[in-house]
Amino acid sequence: MEGTECAVATSTGMSAILLVALTTLKAGDHVICSRSMFGSTIKLLGTEMARFGVETTFGSQTDIAAWKAAVQPNTRLFFAETPTNPLTDLCDIAALAELAHASGALLAVDNSFATPILQQPAKLGADIVVHAGTKFLDGQGRTMIGAVCGSIALVDKVMGTFLRSGGLNAAAYNAWTVMKGLETLSLRVKAQSAAALELAQWLEAHPQVARVYYPGLRSHPQYELAMRQQNGLGGAVLSFDVHGGSPEALRKNAFHVVDHTQVCSITANLGDVKTTITHPASTSHGRLTEEQRQAAGLGQGLIRISVGLEHLDDLKADLSRGLDTYQ
Ligand SMILES: *Cc1c(COP(=O)(O)O)cnc(C)c1O
Repeated sequence: MEGTECAVATSTGMSAILLVALTTLKAGDHVICSRSMFGSTIKLLGTEMARFGVETTFGSQTDIAAWKAAVQPNTRLFFAETPTNPLTDLCDIAALAELAHASGALLAVDNSFATPILQQPAKLGADIVVHAGTKFLDGQGRTMIGAVCGSIALVDKVMGTFLRSGGLNAAAYNAWTVMKGLETLSLRVKAQSAAALELAQWLEAHPQVARVYYPGLRSHPQYELAMRQQNGLGGAVLSFDVHGGSPEALRKNAFHVVDHTQVCSITANLGDVKTTITHPASTSHGRLTEEQRQAAGLGQGLIRISVGLEHLDDLKADLSRGLDTYQ
């Protein structure tokens, strides 16, 4: 599905990323990654790998010049994730691949959010594609699994060997479950993406919504890139800000909206055919300080939705209950 020579399955998405780190890096090497990646990836590459002598620079998600400026003679790996969670910022995969290769580094892309239905990073030049199959690939919140895709020389020979020695392999039952999920991936992602676009447009026109973040909207600062890179689709994940003023007021209003839902499942998971709603500032990004969150543009009024396959009228009614009644 990713158009690569081969793939190996791992126990989780994080073990896929650990496998990439442990097989492409050694003491003295340097990695560049975006500062708005998945929290555990930031912890793994930024903190855990430092104990093994690996140095990491966190750069901008959207600005290629910042990646270029961060390159060092010992840079071995670029690690990117696009679009990001929850603000849906993109990076230009083809441009990053070109820069990585000119710098003597490999480019790895976490494609968990977009899935190969929206984008195939290897076709744009990425050397390694990783997946948290826990999300869209399974699609029904049933299992944890991951994957690394790439060349036979790297992914089969080097990573496959390490995986068996290191015990990062997927459990057989989980592999069977995700294979069932893959049978409907294309249908699900296209339908969820179409529903997310309609919901994003509806939210953007709603007076109680301050701002919507969704790559399929013309108001998204990287709309052109999204349409080019993501097969004309915005994906299933969107975020929006409620109004409020102070962080306390924003948080109160966001909680009001989340707590008034009945159809959406309140959970930090995503990629499920069941719509999930979450308040990033108190869940996925709850460990950051308020200053760090504000620097990342991730306020207390922000709500993330991973759109599933329910009837859109039900989802709109579900969100209206809270949106129409907060002060
Ligand atoms: C969830 C997620 C991961 C980690 O996957 P697990 O299977 O939960 O370990 C990695 N990257 C992204 C983008 C994710 O959303």
